[in-house]
Amino acid sequence: MAMINCPECGKEISDKAKVCPSCGAPAKSVQEKSKKRKDIVVFAVIIVVFIAAVAACIGGAYLHEMKVQEQYRQNFRNSENGRALTSMHEEVEKSRESISKIRDELGS
Ligand SMILES: [Zn+2]
Repeated sequence: MAMINCPECGKEISDKAKVCPSCGAPAKSVQEKSKKRKDIVVFAVIIVVFIAAVAACIGGAYLHEMKVQEQYRQNFRNSENGRALTSMHEEVEKSRESISKIRDELGS
């Protein structure tokens, strides 16, 4: 049988006593409550660490995905198809410009 200190008055009481014989404070329940509170804190810390780890994983994967996409775009731009597409886009832009010029001339 171990002796514990009463959480209210600090006197030594039996750890099996439900209430303190000196002051009548509920000895065991107070201890259990504080233990539960510690469990909640530990649980919260675990959840925070878990969320941080998941966020880091998602963030890392996202950054990796962005890098892969950027690399792909660069490769595509440097490839023959990419260059052809880029020049096509330029042609389209030129056509649009000339169309808007013609429209301006017709309008004025
Ligand atoms: Zn007491």
